[in-house]
Amino acid sequence: MIIRGHRCPPFDLSLLLKQIPLHFTSLIILLFICISWSSPRLGLANDFSQPEFRPYSRIVWDYLKVLCDFGPRYLGSEGYKKTIQLIQDTGLKYADEVESQSFYPIESLRGNEGKFQNLILKFNGSEPGGKPLLIGAHYDTRPFADEESNPDRAKQPILGANDGGSGTALLLGLAEWLKSHPPRQPVHLVFFDGEDYGMLKSGQMLLGSIHMATTIQGRGGEGTPRGVLILDMLADSHLEIFKENYSLKSAPDMVESLFSIAKRNDISQFKDRSKYSIYDDHYPFLKIGIPSAVLIDMDYPDWHKLSDTLDKCSEESLAAVFFVVTEWLETQ
Ligand SMILES: [Zn+2]
Repeated sequence: MIIRGHRCPPFDLSLLLKQIPLHFTSLIILLFICISWSSPRLGLANDFSQPEFRPYSRIVWDYLKVLCDFGPRYLGSEGYKKTIQLIQDTGLKYADEVESQSFYPIESLRGNEGKFQNLILKFNGSEPGGKPLLIGAHYDTRPFADEESNPDRAKQPILGANDGGSGTALLLGLAEWLKSHPPRQPVHLVFFDGEDYGMLKSGQMLLGSIHMATTIQGRGGEGTPRGVLILDMLADSHLEIFKENYSLKSAPDMVESLFSIAKRNDISQFKDRSKYSIYDDHYPFLKIGIPSAVLIDMDYPDWHKLSDTLDKCSEESLAAVFFVVTEWLETQ
């Protein structure tokens, strides 16, 4: 991340004192210049240069490390159970309400693996009663590494540090942030299951978001979020986030708002142009008319491979996204 000018510009004060007939007014002007230079984002809510914000980048990174320590986190695995416990514990600590949404018995698909489960951490906001803003990420990881060329390796489950881990870590960090920065209107953090369950084009992907969107539609729109933002694959140490095409059509204001915050703050991971159309957890919501967007970096060589591990990720990348999303949340 490139964030400009957190320190005073280098200058030799003693030299300056010798050269300039310094009196009190000059000193005040000098101090003012120095302060202005060192705080380009004064007035914004979340300045990463401020000690108050520093811990969040570490908090998110630590969540990612914990998730990776759990191992693969696909339905029925040990890591999956530990992840659900972590999300629930975090929700009980920071959210106003924790909801679990079980769905779709899948015995008929792959043996008795149990049910899928979406988890929702609800923050009521200071003006409760309005439509919630939904921020989502999938917490499941791919049960097989189908992008591996070796057939034996392709059968093994991936660790999903970036794919599954990064979005989950960001949402867990957001839960802590929302506790200390209560939103005006309700915000729901949704941890989706079953995003990466089946083979590509099998119809067995995005299961959690499809379930939730279908439920909303079935209720005649009751509980409809006013917008949906999905976070996926955002820890790549070479992070480049482009504007995604479906998002631009469905929620142009949300996309522009997020990218303009990044631009104003010289957060170089956000690229001010569009690239690719992605079928992700925002898609089922935009299909039913809810403004929905995804932040994702699909240019990730370790995608759906056993090599999607923590060493490909960076704290700075996650911090860049966390900063933009929290800054945007302050405007909601
Ligand atoms: Zn995936």
